[in-house]
Amino acid sequence: MADAAAALRAAAQDLQSITDTPRLDAELLMAHALEMSREDMLLKLPELNAPRDFRELLQRRLAHEPVAHIIGEKEFWGLSFQVSPDVLIPRPDSELLIEEAIRLAAEKPPVRILDLGTGSGALLLATLSEFPDATGMGIDASASALEIAHNNADRLSLTDRAQFRMLDWTCSGWANDLPGPFDLILANPPYVSTDASLSAEVAQYEPHEALFAGVEGLDDYRIILPALEKLLATGGHVLFEIGYDQAKNVTQLAESHGYFVQCQQDLGGNDRLLTLNRTAS
Ligand code: GLN
Repeated sequence: MADAAAALRAAAQDLQSITDTPRLDAELLMAHALEMSREDMLLKLPELNAPRDFRELLQRRLAHEPVAHIIGEKEFWGLSFQVSPDVLIPRPDSELLIEEAIRLAAEKPPVRILDLGTGSGALLLATLSEFPDATGMGIDASASALEIAHNNADRLSLTDRAQFRMLDWTCSGWANDLPGPFDLILANPPYVSTDASLSAEVAQYEPHEALFAGVEGLDDYRIILPALEKLLATGGHVLFEIGYDQAKNVTQLAESHGYFVQCQQDLGGNDRLLTLNRTAS
C-alpha cells in the first residue's frame, strides 16, 4: 500500500512541537519531495509513496529551518515567490499593505510605485500585479536580495514594469537619484528591537539586517521619513508596515514630518499598517 498518507500523519505529529501549522508544513514538504503541487498531491494521496528524501526535509524542519527555505519558495498574495536566507520570508500580515493599496486606488490608481527595502520584491511585485498600468522601483542594500527580487519579477512576467536598484539608506544622499516622485511608497523596513527575543526559526534563519532596527526598532523609520518629502507625489500615499507595539511612536514621528496618519490592524488584531498622507482625508 502507498504510504505517503501515513508518513504525512506521522510527520504532522512530530512537527507539533515546533510549529503552529504542523499538517500544512508536512504537506508542503511532501509535495516538494514529490515534485508536485500540494493540490495535486492531496488529490492523489492514496496512491502515493513517500519519497526517500522526505525524511531529510522533515529533519531540517524539525531543526527549525523555515519551510520556505527548505522548498525555496513562499506564497504571498496568491503568487509564488522565490526566497532564500538573503531575504525576509514574505508574511501573510504584509498582505494588508496590498489590500490598502487597492483600497486607495479606488480614488486614483498609482502609476509610479516605490518599495523601500524590497527584499524578495514581494510587496512591489504583488502591487504591480494588481495595477497593470503602473511601473515600480524596488531598492535594497543587499545585492543578493536584489538578485532574488529580479528572479521573482521574471517568474511573474513583471520585468518590463519592475526595476531594482542597490541603495543603502544609511548612506547620506541615498534618495537623491531616485526617479521620483512616486504615487505610492511601500516600506516594510527592519523594525524589530535589538533586545527582542525572536523564535529560533526567525533568529537563526532570517537575515538580521532585514529585521533589527536599534533598541526601539525605530532606526529605519527615522532615516526614511525625512527623505519622503522629495519622493512622494502630490496626493500620494506612504504605506509603512510596523511592529505590533509601534503605532504610537511611528505615528508621532510621521506627524512630526507633517503627515496625517491612519493605523490598521492585521488579522491577528495587532497594529500592523500606517497610511501616511500629506493632507487629512
Ligand atoms: N514581521 C517580522 C517578524 O515579526 C519583522 C519584519 C520586519 O522587521 N520588517 O519577524
